[in-house]
Amino acid sequence: MDGIAVQMRPALMDDIARQPGVELRYSRAMNYQERMRRTRLGLDDSRLDALVVTHLANIRYLCGVTGSAGVLVLGRRETVFFTDGRYRQQAREEVCRARVRIVKGKSALAAASEWLAKDSYRRIGIEAAHLSVAERSILEKSLPARARLIRSRPIIEELRMVKDSDEIAKIRAACRLGSELFLHLLKVIRPGVKESEVAGELEFRARKSGAEQMSFPTIVAGGARSALPHGRASSCPIPPRGFVVSDFGVILAGYCSDMTRTVHLGRPRAEARSAYGAVEEAQQAALAAARPGRTVAEVDRAARKSLQKRGLAKFFTHSTGHGVGLEIHESPRIAAGEKQPLKAGMVITIEPGVYVPGNWGVRIEDTVLITTSGCEVLTPSPKDLIML
Ligand code: ZN
Ligand code: ZN
Repeated sequence: MDGIAVQMRPALMDDIARQPGVELRYSRAMNYQERMRRTRLGLDDSRLDALVVTHLANIRYLCGVTGSAGVLVLGRRETVFFTDGRYRQQAREEVCRARVRIVKGKSALAAASEWLAKDSYRRIGIEAAHLSVAERSILEKSLPARARLIRSRPIIEELRMVKDSDEIAKIRAACRLGSELFLHLLKVIRPGVKESEVAGELEFRARKSGAEQMSFPTIVAGGARSALPHGRASSCPIPPRGFVVSDFGVILAGYCSDMTRTVHLGRPRAEARSAYGAVEEAQQAALAAARPGRTVAEVDRAARKSLQKRGLAKFFTHSTGHGVGLEIHESPRIAAGEKQPLKAGMVITIEPGVYVPGNWGVRIEDTVLITTSGCEVLTPSPKDLIML
């Protein structure tokens, strides 16, 4: 593949700003005030007097702060962000629509607990999936007996499922950079080169092109290791023959991309070629099923049914995809039994795979935007079988 032209453009903020306005069809830009307003409606629905937000991605979504420690409390009248002295300047610059309290001599949670105690809150929502047992004890410590900590439903995660136009523009830019990196990857994958070296080249190029970091540890899995769905790049050399699965993503302006492509070194045997074709077909079937009104389970079923026809469904051992946004894995889960209907503005992955343990594996993954009439693939790298 020496002839492939690798054209790297720095997908930076000015690039994002030049995004076309088509996203407005799906969802209007939402400011922090609107996100808070919607969250408060969720609190009212759940009859909560306050919500203690401890999940950093949710805090960032609500008030824009990118720090790695802090607690946001949505009270009846005010919203307060508690953090420590390390984040004084950052909080001042970034936090929107919330008061900032810099805490000294105790934890942010302890300060939040004291603040809640003063205002006689009774039903206080917590994010049970993002609060350890020890943290819960700290939060309870100052509260009066009449106050109760209540496991909140995932109010903010539910809001985050449907992206607004700003978020879509950022994810689009991250996916475009991811797709450009794939072309670079094709130049780096060679027999004898260590998987970790391939990942390193990709990650270096990503950073040079403006990525804040990778969305997750890059997966590069060659030969028999391609049968490991989460085969992190290891010190194993790429073998002279067989599949290589590469699954990677970048974070740009806080938003993730996610894609997988599988290439083949040397000429594939008939069995490998037909397995690749089967995964490609399953991915197409799932893409065709991804439209507003369909449930996520229907998308999963479309991929599975397609593989079933080829007798390969038993080798498809994970769900078909997941939501992508501020986090690499977020709601909804594209899996059997999930009832969530797709809505315009959701961004999800479609990633069927087939893995024959000890032998080989194939996965093809795109990040897609659910539109008003179907879905748009945001990671348009080639999907025909590439032989290196
Ligand atoms: Zn992936
Ligand atoms: Zn994924």
